[in-house]
Amino acid sequence: MNDIVKKRLIKWGLGLGLGNIALVLFSFLILLALLGNFVDGKNKNDSGGGDIGISELGEKEIPKEFIPVYKEAGKKYDIAWTLIAAFHKVETNFGTAGNMVSSAGAIGHFQFLPETWLGWGYGKAPPKSVYEDPAMIARYGGYGVDADNDGKADPYNIKDAAFSCANYVSKSGGMADLQSAIFAYNHAQWYVDKVMGYYKMYSSGDYTPVENGGGNSGNGKYKMPVPSPVTITSGYGSRVDPITGTAGEFHKGIDFSGSIATPILAVTNGTVVYSQFNNGGFGNCVIIQHSDGYYSLYGHMSSLNVSVGQSVKTGSKVGNMGTTGSSTGVHLHFGVYKGIFVNPVDPSPFLGL
Ligand SMILES: [Zn+2]
Repeated sequence: MNDIVKKRLIKWGLGLGLGNIALVLFSFLILLALLGNFVDGKNKNDSGGGDIGISELGEKEIPKEFIPVYKEAGKKYDIAWTLIAAFHKVETNFGTAGNMVSSAGAIGHFQFLPETWLGWGYGKAPPKSVYEDPAMIARYGGYGVDADNDGKADPYNIKDAAFSCANYVSKSGGMADLQSAIFAYNHAQWYVDKVMGYYKMYSSGDYTPVENGGGNSGNGKYKMPVPSPVTITSGYGSRVDPITGTAGEFHKGIDFSGSIATPILAVTNGTVVYSQFNNGGFGNCVIIQHSDGYYSLYGHMSSLNVSVGQSVKTGSKVGNMGTTGSSTGVHLHFGVYKGIFVNPVDPSPFLGL
């Protein structure tokens, strides 16, 4: 809340600083683009950042060296890469706006306040040594990302900054709720229109999620196995066994609640290696093998929608939620393993939990 208010104040400040002339000019630009450029929806090529192509204007205006970075960030957070380019354009004109410090203290390529970057729990004006520290960002729940893995989340580093922008947009509604997501970045309708204007000018075609099931929450490398909103009823680790009542049972997965109609979704691309009723307690159970060396397991389902040998994409439906096998109620038991039923690991980091 606090950061949103602050962000708004800052952006209003910027807006006034630029003057109304700039706004009028931008409106004209957008209008021109709508008239001229925004008609063709061909070439849905693309290798990352979801399925969206670049327009002729985008080819001309977006600096080539940034495109792979936008694409990588877009792919990771399921955001159109041309939207990230639009933010970069609006915030600092692709990193060319002076020293990239606003009068209100927003910094770097995408003009984050240090407080938003780090998380507002720390308090006002965190020093660089603090807001650049990924451990401190994790502690205070900010949006800064150390995408180039150099140990520093640096708002002036294009990769860190672009990933942080995509992270922020993703956590604010993402492509499924684009108006809200942009509004969250800066609470002003003129700002939303401006970013949307560039996004449309730079894009050809419509965005479709990275894989067919995109849009589920979760910012790990895997998507959630159930649609949003996600409710977890039991985490990974020691707990009291819900069936026997004995303490110290080790729960080798995460339980998600839902109804018998809830579709169960593949968390990432892979090949089905198990799909049958399991007598060991998992009931109707699917296991998918992934190229990263891990296996995902989906248990207690009411129905099975895939068969062994089938390749599935992120978000493919593998079955419906149920309560088959050793289960006290309708839920999904989801596990990540290093083998088929052996060597379980904590799924939380895979799901970004
Ligand atoms: Zn379970």
